[in-house]
Amino acid sequence: MLRRLLILAMSALLAACATVNPYFDESKPHHRRDGFVNSNGLMLGQFPWYDILRRNLRGDFRPLVEPAGGYAGFIREWTVPIDRARIAQRSDAPVMTWLGHAGMLLQVGGLNILLDPQLSDYAGPLSRFGAKRRVPAPLTPEELPPIDLVLISHNHYDHLDYATVTRLAAVQKPRWIVPLGVKVWFDDHGIDQVQEMDWWDRTTVGPLMLTFTPAQHWTKRSPFDTNATLWGGFAIEQPRPTGGEPWRFLYTGDTGYSQDFKEIRRRLGAVDFLAVPIGAYLPRDFMAPQHINPDDAVRIVLDLDAKHAMGIHWGTFELTQETFDQPPKDLEAASRQHRLFADQVWLFKHGETRALPF
Ligand code: ZN
Ligand code: ZN
Repeated sequence: MLRRLLILAMSALLAACATVNPYFDESKPHHRRDGFVNSNGLMLGQFPWYDILRRNLRGDFRPLVEPAGGYAGFIREWTVPIDRARIAQRSDAPVMTWLGHAGMLLQVGGLNILLDPQLSDYAGPLSRFGAKRRVPAPLTPEELPPIDLVLISHNHYDHLDYATVTRLAAVQKPRWIVPLGVKVWFDDHGIDQVQEMDWWDRTTVGPLMLTFTPAQHWTKRSPFDTNATLWGGFAIEQPRPTGGEPWRFLYTGDTGYSQDFKEIRRRLGAVDFLAVPIGAYLPRDFMAPQHINPDDAVRIVLDLDAKHAMGIHWGTFELTQETFDQPPKDLEAASRQHRLFADQVWLFKHGETRALPF
């Protein structure tokens, strides 16, 4: 009897929590009545709890060993003091600052654009139980220059961070662009000027054209919202003074290797500068569908005809099994193997600012 009651209670709970996708459009193959799916039909993120527990216990989600020289040595090697005077200046030609992990400040077209800012000490729902930040954030949300636009690629905790977003929103009123389904999170926290985008939607921001692009990934913020919100990347295009093809930047967002990037190349054109993940890829049996490794990243550089790229999503948070200093080594090997030219894929230090080729 007790068992039956328990089952009844569980089913009622699950039914109450089952999501209905208010954006469902049956003409779009990545839409489902209860959420979203990848462009090739692959549904990720539905991992049984016991598998996650087993992997957690055996250490799948943190590096097996420290980097050579320890974390102190890694921080010394991969950090520079942020150039506050430089980022205080607006810029028409593109200038990029890496804020660690997938967070970046892109200054272009006279606008200051933040992508996936995560400046907290942990990434996760219950701070200390989340993934630990090993390299200090280069600045606090309050120290950011005036921000015009914030782009959020998906609602994983290492990309959409409560503390960073609410602290930024407390001192500035930027425009926010988020994937379908994520606006309600901002509504709940009293943040307005939020626009949602579906894959291939386009919108203008000042002189720039933005496109929300597909990626192979998944989303989850609670036990009950797996893939209820969309994921993806952003293409940002700036017209050139001389006319012709615009300068084109692509931020892939978190992704496994997929045909999405050939499709982005086909629809939008070649990419001038690409921000592509190169970390959080081990163990492969679990990570491959959702997170590319450096070899996949180089294949995406080639798929997009990207003239230059930078590796992101590495070297900041303890998320996965590879050692912090492994991604640059694997990237160098992959670049050589696929015959990229020297320095085609850049690695920034935390806090580093560089002008991008324009
Ligand atoms: Zn993610
Ligand atoms: Zn991520």
